[in-house]
Amino acid sequence: MPNPLQPPRQFNWNRALLNAFWIVLLIHTSSQLLNSRLILPDLIIVGIIVLLESICKWKPDASEVSITVGSYVISVLIVAFLAPDVRVWPLIMALPLLVSMIYMRTSYLFASAAGALLFLAILGEVQGLNASQLPDTLLIGMMFAALALTGLGVIRRGNDLIRSLANSEKTEQDLRIQNIIMDRLSKIDPLTDLYNHKTFHEYLGWLIDHQQSNPFPMQLAILDIDNFKKVNDTYGHWVGDIALKQVASEVLFHIGTDDFAARYGGEEFAIILTAKTLEEARDIMERIRTGVAGHHISEMEGKSVTVSIGMHDFQGADSKSYVFQKADDALYEAKKTGKNRIIVL
Ligand code: GH3
Ligand code: MG
Ligand code: MG
Repeated sequence: MPNPLQPPRQFNWNRALLNAFWIVLLIHTSSQLLNSRLILPDLIIVGIIVLLESICKWKPDASEVSITVGSYVISVLIVAFLAPDVRVWPLIMALPLLVSMIYMRTSYLFASAAGALLFLAILGEVQGLNASQLPDTLLIGMMFAALALTGLGVIRRGNDLIRSLANSEKTEQDLRIQNIIMDRLSKIDPLTDLYNHKTFHEYLGWLIDHQQSNPFPMQLAILDIDNFKKVNDTYGHWVGDIALKQVASEVLFHIGTDDFAARYGGEEFAIILTAKTLEEARDIMERIRTGVAGHHISEMEGKSVTVSIGMHDFQGADSKSYVFQKADDALYEAKKTGKNRIIVL
């Protein structure tokens, strides 16, 4: 079963361990050759490392268990055939324990410690260790137990760190999501999903600032639903809300990606059109006006609402308040001259 708390950069650790095996083998074989000893076990070890290399390459899922078992077999071979000095046996047999620690696997650690002790016990039996060697045997046993306990502590500590890292990453991610939601909530009108009054003013100010260094065509349109109070009074506020949403979706449907729409307040909307001629901008607003007027709202007995629109074409020296004032004056004019129309000032 894959470790749910798998340490990162698994591949790098496999590589580091296999490199270490190659280095150990190289040093060991050189000393064997210098002393003209048998090199068959070394050749078997070469075979094992090559096998581990292929497992890592072709079956990476099995790399951890293979490298741990491989380290055990290599230790056994070295102890059994290549290291005559009894005192270095425990040191060599500690190799699979260290590999288990690197993989942070307690099960491998216990299996390696038990396997190493079992092998040393069998070897001692075969070689006929006598009673005088009992203290040494006990010492070896205690050493392995101590190493296994230390390893256990290191693995638990490592897993704790990984868990707390995962927790803090999750907290950070939650905070980021919360920030995005808060940011959206502070910018968007919840009823219509258009930008709100505050964001409109910020954006208009920002665009006008940019006009100084990099002038571009821009129009402001203010749109107001006609006789909206009557809609509320006749059909209820909830139907008024439906009409507001319908107007908003009509606006969004017709404006382009360069444009910006906000619910200015109540039943008033502000639309900033950029990178268009006045004719093009006016055409878009005309499509919105006819689109709204042509949309029959079933909750209003199939009737529709109409909108009046005031527009101003931005000129280089216009201030933000001037732009707004002109569009508002145009809207007033549209209302005064019969509603359901567009006036450009
Ligand atoms: P005009 O054609 O001159 O614009 O007249 P009007 O009735 O549209 O304008 P008036 O300012 O008299 O009324 C606007 C109404 O819009 C009054 C208010 O109750 C309503 N209103 C404002 N915000 C909302 C809202 O969020 N939902 C609903 N249903 N009504 C709203
Ligand atoms: Mg109004
Ligand atoms: Mg109105």
